Amino acid sequence: MNYISTRGNVGEVGFIDAVLMGLADDGGLLIPKQIPRLSEAELTSWSKLDYKGLALEIFSRYINEEIPQDELKELIEASYSTFRDSDITPVRKLNDNSYVLELFHGPTFAFKDVALQFLGNLYSYIARKRNSIINILGATSGDTGASAIEGVRGKEGIRISILHPHQRVSKVQELQMTTVDDANVLNLAVKGNFDDCQTLIKELFADVEFKNKYHLRAINSINFARILAQTVYYFFAYFQVTADAPGEKVNFSVPTGNFGDIFAGYLAKQMGLPVNKLILATNENNILERFIKEGVYQPGEFHITHSPSMDIQIASNFERYLFYLYNEDASQVADLMRQFKTEGKIVIDSEKLKQVQADFAAHGVKNDECLDAIRTTYESTGYLLDPHTACGIAASSPYTGSDELTVTLATAHPAKFDESIQLVNIKQEFPVQISQLFDKPQYQTVVEHSKADVVEHIVKLYQA
Ligand SMILES: *Cc1c(COP(=O)(O)O)cnc(C)c1O
Repeated sequence: MNYISTRGNVGEVGFIDAVLMGLADDGGLLIPKQIPRLSEAELTSWSKLDYKGLALEIFSRYINEEIPQDELKELIEASYSTFRDSDITPVRKLNDNSYVLELFHGPTFAFKDVALQFLGNLYSYIARKRNSIINILGATSGDTGASAIEGVRGKEGIRISILHPHQRVSKVQELQMTTVDDANVLNLAVKGNFDDCQTLIKELFADVEFKNKYHLRAINSINFARILAQTVYYFFAYFQVTADAPGEKVNFSVPTGNFGDIFAGYLAKQMGLPVNKLILATNENNILERFIKEGVYQPGEFHITHSPSMDIQIASNFERYLFYLYNEDASQVADLMRQFKTEGKIVIDSEKLKQVQADFAAHGVKNDECLDAIRTTYESTGYLLDPHTACGIAASSPYTGSDELTVTLATAHPAKFDESIQLVNIKQEFPVQISQLFDKPQYQTVVEHSKADVVEHIVKLYQA
């Protein structure tokens, strides 16, 4: 499988080069040249596979023989043996129409581990195979950083710097990142918000000379390997719930920030998984809800919410969807992105809007609604949602017909966001891996929201 850019100005590259490139050199995003389509027979045979077996089938369609099958199998084995549940991403039934897909059984208790445990091992594999230096640079609204660090800490040939918004991540997220003392890890706490961090990273990656000089590699969800890893659980969950209820229409409700996770669902659907509705749940930072309802993609006012990992205005994976919305016409995507840069918004016509609404439903969940979902779900089922998953549950109700069922992606363990759980007066027990963090020393450097400051610190690490 070869990969091309959504903006059409990068020559085709193979899977490993696509992983190494991260953001495409023309500023676009890399996507497979052709989405593999599955036959009915393949789908049926996949329905009997376990998580790792499914991952192997799906990954090999996108990697072909670039990584030999036995080595790919080892990578998958290593990546998912760190999960605490034997199903990797188990599905739990809340009531007749509602399931949650628990994606938080990896090392950092958030769904990011599903992709980043794999990407960490993949980078390590590439470093060995190609004898190349891997210097990872990423921005995080909280979960990615911890997960990426956990994926590569202590690994030979890899160094990682992660920017997070200073004091704007949850306490547990901060501790998960900053209590790591491996020499290949640097935490920069930037005085600003997540979009400031992401913009800094985008600028550094867009400077191709700088990127090449320091062998910069991305860990953000712009990396196609992450999207790929996340398609697996859509298949897995679909097969699990339809085994219980054959022929049922299955929706997915996805707590969304950068549009990576839900794009993986869109990709699974394009591959042939018979997903009914993809429900996009946002919080009060609802640029994507407005786009889906009104056809205007334009950042609004920034809100601090109970679901900080979704406090995002510019969804970095959105461009991938635009590419398919515009029938894989890269020049139109390039025009739209140019328009976004100069005018600060993208407006689509009514015909395209119809297509968007056929692809997605959307709901922006208000802060109170989020807390209500935590409270009422706990009262009626005894199940404790984290505030991100609660947005997914709140968004799922209006869109789940009585003859349908909705799987809500549970993107984090509630212990990561105890600040919000306390607001509904629920007392939770922390898993021991989390309670231990509070006694450990922290390692982080606070920097101004300035490119020069960031560069100074990361260059020091990368030259070490
Ligand atoms: C990252 C994250 C999200 C958003 O996922 P995207 O792929 O950015 O849309 C939602 N919930 C949690 C807990 C996250 O960490």
